[in-house]
Amino acid sequence: MPNLVVADVTKNYPTRAEPLHVLRGCSLELSAGENAVILGPSGSGKSTLLYCIGTLDRPTSGRIALDGVDPFGLKEPELAKFRNERLGFVFQDHHLLPQCSVLENVLVPTLAEAKPTTAAVDRAKQLLDRVGLASRLEHRPAELSGGERQRVAIARALIHRPALLLADEPTGNLDRTTANQIGDLLLELQQTEQTMLLVVTHSLDLAARFSRRVELDDGKLISQ
Ligand code: ADP
Ligand code: MG
Repeated sequence: MPNLVVADVTKNYPTRAEPLHVLRGCSLELSAGENAVILGPSGSGKSTLLYCIGTLDRPTSGRIALDGVDPFGLKEPELAKFRNERLGFVFQDHHLLPQCSVLENVLVPTLAEAKPTTAAVDRAKQLLDRVGLASRLEHRPAELSGGERQRVAIARALIHRPALLLADEPTGNLDRTTANQIGDLLLELQQTEQTMLLVVTHSLDLAARFSRRVELDDGKLISQ
């Protein structure tokens, strides 16, 4: 049984004229420990699909289930908890809090309940060690390079051991060498953490690192 099921997802955006049919029936399945990349040109609907899978947006129709749970059947506090604990996000822009240290940024998802526990702090430090930033715990994001900031964002996304890690153009703001390093790091951590990883990108360089490639074409997913 696949752990992530995306079945016939559509998304329309209303416009003044005809609604825009961005997703026209997207289906995809992933099992625990698997990764896939979704390729497509700018404007093809990659972010829209990733946001629907990540529960940041709602599909117009279709079904999404993670480990048997339909997140859109949950009420708001449960949905927020689901999103925070079961999903990890890495965006093109790191979205780090500038006033917080590297360590504090990684702990942000654990602050929903109370003060971070010793276990959470240990996990954050361990992740920052794994992404090569053990000596930068007290630095602010402004004191890091673009690649280092993305490493912090990846550590933050993994703090709760998510079932599914989602990344939207995670290397889009980086030079080629750094982009390749971040692509490799994402895949390496996906393997060691045994999470599912779904990346969307228009970068063929990044996509080449994945064993499973799917293309978003005219609102549908086509296996390559
Ligand atoms: P990609 O990530 O592949 O570049 P997007 O998912 O961002 O593509 O956008 C796909 C299409 O949907 C684009 O034509 C975009 O203009 C349109 N779109 C995205 N978000 C909205 C929105 N909130 N309202 C209306 N149209 C949107
Ligand atoms: Mg996009």
